[in-house]
Amino acid sequence: MAKTFGIVLSWIKYKESSKIVTLFTEDLGRISIMAQGALKPKSQILAATEVFSKSHFELKKGKNFYYIESAELESSNFTIRQDIDRLTYGFYILELVERSVPEGESSSKIFNMLDKALFDMSSSMKPILQTVAFELKMISILGYRPQLSKCLKCGRTASEIWDFSIIEGGVYCDSCRKGSGVLIDQALFEAMGNILLSRFDQLDELNLSTEALLRIHSILYQFIIYNLDLKELKSQTMLQRGQKL
Ligand SMILES: [Zn+2]
Repeated sequence: MAKTFGIVLSWIKYKESSKIVTLFTEDLGRISIMAQGALKPKSQILAATEVFSKSHFELKKGKNFYYIESAELESSNFTIRQDIDRLTYGFYILELVERSVPEGESSSKIFNMLDKALFDMSSSMKPILQTVAFELKMISILGYRPQLSKCLKCGRTASEIWDFSIIEGGVYCDSCRKGSGVLIDQALFEAMGNILLSRFDQLDELNLSTEALLRIHSILYQFIIYNLDLKELKSQTMLQRGQKL
């Protein structure tokens, strides 16, 4: 039997009243669990198998799935659902984890970060802030940390215009740029570097505008899709509809 914390990324209905849940766990990484009877009105595991919920699970490994022996809800992160912005960005983060971390590969770093991001997002007035920080930190943990402190070629740390290369994962200054990447100004360049170095609870202090954050999200989204070789994420389409990116 395995005991671990887990956060529900998504679920699909199975037969009359069961769910197949995709869970991101602290110790086992991303796994599939069969939650028998989870959709029955008086089910003990109803809340623990809702999307965004964090619980402590006791799991038994079966042939194709893990099965729940017990589940103790720690946090439902319910307030994410009470705001359309939080909800769409929340879904985006979950989909990003589901699609980018290989099944069964454990990463307590990503688990803890997801936990923090969802916790802060549940009371956030600007959920894109947690989203952008999560994107940048997650891609770094996965081995694609972009060079955001100086020019890739000459090492300069200030430039009026920077060229962010999606392919090379870093910036070129105005003198070295080849014109094949995304152009950003010095303020946006500094903002990205600061986000990477800040803890989640320090993000508010950066005082970044929604406009700047949307721009950073659009760059990071392209960067992630390219490096992780993903097709587009469904929730990004939802975001684009909402924000007209
Ligand atoms: Zn340069």
